[in-house]
Amino acid sequence: MTTLLELKNIECRYGDLVAVRNLSMQVGEGDLVCLLGPSGCGKSTALRAIAGFEPVVSGAIELGGVTLSRPGFMLPPEKRHMGMVFQDYALFPHLNVSDNICFGLRGLTKKAHKEIATRLLGVVGLAGLEERYPHELSGGQQQRVALARALAPKPALILMDEPFSNLDVDMRERLSIEVRTILKSQGSTAILVTHDQHEAFALGDRIGVMSEGAILQWDTPYNLYHEPANRFVADFIGQGVFLRGRLLSENTILTELGVIQGKHAYDWPRGATVELLVRPDDIIHDDAAEMRAEVIHKAFKGAEIMYTLRLPTGSQVLSLFPSHHNHTLGEKVGIKLDVDHVVAFRS
Ligand code: ADP
Repeated sequence: MTTLLELKNIECRYGDLVAVRNLSMQVGEGDLVCLLGPSGCGKSTALRAIAGFEPVVSGAIELGGVTLSRPGFMLPPEKRHMGMVFQDYALFPHLNVSDNICFGLRGLTKKAHKEIATRLLGVVGLAGLEERYPHELSGGQQQRVALARALAPKPALILMDEPFSNLDVDMRERLSIEVRTILKSQGSTAILVTHDQHEAFALGDRIGVMSEGAILQWDTPYNLYHEPANRFVADFIGQGVFLRGRLLSENTILTELGVIQGKHAYDWPRGATVELLVRPDDIIHDDAAEMRAEVIHKAFKGAEIMYTLRLPTGSQVLSLFPSHHNHTLGEKVGIKLDVDHVVAFRS
């Protein structure tokens, strides 16, 4: 992988407030990465620092080995070869789609503009809409035009700040998947900032989960879900509950669901109390299982039903059953734990 963008231990401040701290990351050419975290964790500030709108007070930002930012120096945004896509689309209302897309292009003929707009409208799935005005487009279509505009000057890097937040939930996920396909088809490198893990999962090859200005885990969507590095990531990503347990040997844990064989060897002292992350997909419905749990809540999700189940000890777990396994509240169902996926934290 050729590294395109590198953040070396950057820090950004607003007065005394440290908005981004010790943030390092490498983005390879053609990578689609996301910064994901709750509101106020510093995602936008990090993106704005990359774009050249915020200075760094320590560390450095490099693109292709060239320093863009370091303390006391900030290459202006227009010299960074980056395209931005914002939450509010930021299209010019008085320009048609074609002119919006070509707005940032300089020194080209009208004919060349038309060709570029037509090609990019094809890429973003809006062929034929050159003459429309922004108010004649849906939110999703406007955001596709904004993406086409960002792609037009062939930037080294595309930066997207909560680009799907103004769309309804279904559209958000669909467009994230489409945008991923579009960016991959163009060989683009992009950074998406979002608080929505579904968007991040749909779009990103790699995701940095942020809290209080720092990246807590930089990983693939699969690993963030199945191998969260700490309690914050485990809580923030996906659904699940924590059950208390006790370490019997380096990889066996006594829990209220029985003794489980962990997939890792833990170097905590024997007898240490631990917390076990149990995801809905770790609890498997099995009528023949000895362990019974009572249905106390159910949420229909289409292909699946999310059950909240009470164990004999009183603890609750979540479990996804196929939708045709339709049990009533109060019913006792057989469950077993799919131990391969269970992750423990020291409590
Ligand atoms: P996020 O994008 O994750 O929501 P931000 O990067 O916008 O987070 O903000 C990080 C922190 O910096 C927050 O505490 C926020 O209140 C603060 N902040 C953001 N912008 C400014 C600003 N222009 N002036 C002062 N504080 C700011």
